[in-house]
Amino acid sequence: MNSEELFNESKKYIPGGVNSPVRAFEPYPFFVKEAKGSHIRDVDGNDYIDHCLAYGPILLGHSDEDVMADVKAQMEMGTAYGAPTENEIKLAKEVIDRVPCAEMVRFVSTGVEATMAAIRLARGYTQRDKIVKFEGAYHGAHDNVLVKPGDSYSCVPDSLGVPADTAKNTLTVPYNDEEALTKLIEEEGENIACVIVEPVMGNIGCIQPKIGYLKFLRKITEENDILLIFDEVITGFRVSRGGAQQYFGVTPDLATFAKVLGGGFPIGAYAGKREIMEYIAPSGPVYQAGTYSGNPVSVQAGLSTLKKLDFQFYGDLNKRSDDFRNNIADIVEDLELNIKVVGLASMFQIYFSPFPVMNNDLAQMCDKKRFLTYFRELLKNGVFIPPSQFECNFISGAHTVEDLSKTAEAVEAALKVAWEL
Ligand SMILES: *Cc1c(COP(=O)(O)O)cnc(C)c1O
Repeated sequence: MNSEELFNESKKYIPGGVNSPVRAFEPYPFFVKEAKGSHIRDVDGNDYIDHCLAYGPILLGHSDEDVMADVKAQMEMGTAYGAPTENEIKLAKEVIDRVPCAEMVRFVSTGVEATMAAIRLARGYTQRDKIVKFEGAYHGAHDNVLVKPGDSYSCVPDSLGVPADTAKNTLTVPYNDEEALTKLIEEEGENIACVIVEPVMGNIGCIQPKIGYLKFLRKITEENDILLIFDEVITGFRVSRGGAQQYFGVTPDLATFAKVLGGGFPIGAYAGKREIMEYIAPSGPVYQAGTYSGNPVSVQAGLSTLKKLDFQFYGDLNKRSDDFRNNIADIVEDLELNIKVVGLASMFQIYFSPFPVMNNDLAQMCDKKRFLTYFRELLKNGVFIPPSQFECNFISGAHTVEDLSKTAEAVEAALKVAWEL
């Protein structure tokens, strides 16, 4: 069956034909046959340079041979135990060695689980119920954070099934706006357990913090005994060896990880100050548990992946990515388009907007329709990016200079069609 037939078949058995909503795009998504290195191939015989990279986990490239060899060896020795292993200690030490805020770490299975647990921990530790998130930020699709701004600071559900009573305990303000958060904390500070933030907003495209903004978050939370949580599910182990907190030089109280940490296998983690982490069961009163927590296959994949992610790796990849972004920016300039090429390290996006995008409201003003034309043209030209203006595109260590110049050519051609040049 080809992709179209498979999608029609899939829709009979799986809601919407996909197992995560963003994967469904018009008229039908391609169905994957295999992926290797920087390339992904579909069942229709097409080959794409992959800049979706599973929405973030793939940093070494697909099916890295060293990681696969180690994972296969682990699989021979068992795939789940329900008892601890030495490798969990090794991976914990590796995270602690890299991540400035990490004095202890707890492994879970996904990013959703990590943010859910970190929020519960913050509430348990501070004995406060309210939390603050930023408009447009994504922390996984669980009840506390699947919310949107309501009338005041309090949120309302962003999906049927999320109780209004739950949503109202989450407060939002715009990102990159010091005044808004200052005012909110003046009014509500005593009830706020934590501020959770994507240090780089990677689920609304790619929005960087204004200079000094993360330091401001650190200061105002510290002054009000509010925990600061960096959701580093995308940025962790991607933007630098120690994630965004190392890149920007700001240390939160807690941080959450997933994606790159598992090297393509399901894993999540939350980490932070010892004093706070010891509140987690069984050493403390905040309960959290999981059958697949510290899963030996995922842990091995994580260990083998991180082993390859040294300073040299980040230096080389980030340099190639900088050159690529500059190349794209030149193309945009030559075409005289007033749109914004954004990104850092191995993250990039083009905002179809004449304005610098600093927050969710500005992101929503982008020309989403044109973006979809751009997305489709890229596919036609052998380049796969997520089908949304509000996702981030990635580059892996397996992307060669030749791959990146092919992508740049495809971007130029796609922009020309999207803008009818
Ligand atoms: C992907 C993502 C999550 C959710 O992680 P899952 O592994 O999909 O559950 C949470 N936070 C951020 C910032 C993410 O990008």
